[in-house]
Amino acid sequence: MPRKPIVGGNWKCNPDSVSKLDELIVNINDCDTSGCDVYVCPSPLHVFYCSDKFKNGAMVTPQNCNFKGCGAFTGEMAVEQMKDMGLKCVLMGHSERRGEFGIFPMDDNSTLATKLKYALDAGLQVVFCIGEPLSIREKGLDAVLAEMDVQLTQIYGLLDPAKVVIAYEPVWAIGTGVTASPQDAQDTHAGIRKLIAEKASPEVAEGIRIQYGGSANAKNAPELSAMPDIDGFLVGGASLKPEFKEIVAAIS
Ligand code: PEP
Repeated sequence: MPRKPIVGGNWKCNPDSVSKLDELIVNINDCDTSGCDVYVCPSPLHVFYCSDKFKNGAMVTPQNCNFKGCGAFTGEMAVEQMKDMGLKCVLMGHSERRGEFGIFPMDDNSTLATKLKYALDAGLQVVFCIGEPLSIREKGLDAVLAEMDVQLTQIYGLLDPAKVVIAYEPVWAIGTGVTASPQDAQDTHAGIRKLIAEKASPEVAEGIRIQYGGSANAKNAPELSAMPDIDGFLVGGASLKPEFKEIVAAIS
């Protein structure tokens, strides 16, 4: 069965005003979602504001969650709160939270496996980010796939294609304007799918959607979309621009 494309917009800690947020919301509502699932990751402060604003099925998808629920966890967001708000999906494991920049050292592979299980048990869908730093990419594809295996090892058993989307985001491509070439991205996606076939099952590998993330934009999306193992995009910078809807159109 063909995999339905899926495109996400990660607004990170943007925009800086509610009036600009309203413009971004209009842009999402302009996306044609008939052939593509769309989700949007607003900043935590904007999640509630956005929660009833998308009229075309785009899913509000918080950028993170905890694995403990509600309680004395200052600054955290609980999946229970998300569910109560009617949200259906959460993002986790973004490289900006995995600690590559040394800012948020909490999201290691083991913590993320616990988070994933917690969110799935609570009934949420999850977009789970993985990706390698430049030092590993420079060693070649085998080294990249060995690192992907490390990042996936604790979650192979949780990869239900109906509930989990993998976002492959090479860290060196995020926010840099440097995109993986379509062939390099394809080779990595195919390698990730092979790992999943071996360590989860061929059915899971065939069904699970793997997005590409890393300086995706309206210009490079058509070529990347043509690759058989690229099932969509997770978009940062370009999701703050009108071209986001062209990226959705490119893969639909
Ligand atoms: C991201 O933040 O997930 C991302 C892919 O950012 P950008 O598109 O700006 O590289």
